[in-house]
Amino acid sequence: MSQWNNQHNYSIKSVYLKLMEGKPNVQWAKAIWNRMSLPKHKFIAWIGIQARLKTKDKLYQFNINPDDRCCLCGAETESHAHLFFNCVYSKELIKKLLIWVDVNYATRSIQQWFRWIRSSYSGSKLRKSIMCTVIAAAIYQIWRNRNTAYWLSKVYNVDYVLKDTKYIVKNRINMCNNAKWSSVDIRWVDAL
Ligand SMILES: [Zn+2]
Repeated sequence: MSQWNNQHNYSIKSVYLKLMEGKPNVQWAKAIWNRMSLPKHKFIAWIGIQARLKTKDKLYQFNINPDDRCCLCGAETESHAHLFFNCVYSKELIKKLLIWVDVNYATRSIQQWFRWIRSSYSGSKLRKSIMCTVIAAAIYQIWRNRNTAYWLSKVYNVDYVLKDTKYIVKNRINMCNNAKWSSVDIRWVDAL
């Protein structure tokens, strides 16, 4: 009987794992779909977190592109992991954005980012929303600039993209401004 139970439990677990294969974890799904982020940023972050953007490693694999080099740095294969976390271009953009929002945390995947914001980041609820907005904006901007580089062979300077990203995020924060924000949070936002 116990053998049957073990087998039975194992098969339920297998079915569950099979169902969850490639499906986003609820924890980071909530973080991505937070109200403050711009819809187009959420959408690209959502596709990116599932590694479903058409990066050059895939295009090369299906003979759509003759090479798999990263559009932004040209140094390595353009995969999701490279484009968002190992590329010198993206690393610099994300590093500067994190300094801007006072965060000292580095990771190697989009999933980990959102998981960390939800579970380990010690900031207030508002600051968590802002962090999610910043990360989604960074992913969107990296992907957008990658596309400009791919289609127009033009790579914008990181500081230009940084300034643009800060402007977009700040605008978004101001649009979501409400009376429930604490004075500490308001001071923090004003200093951004
Ligand atoms: Zn690169």
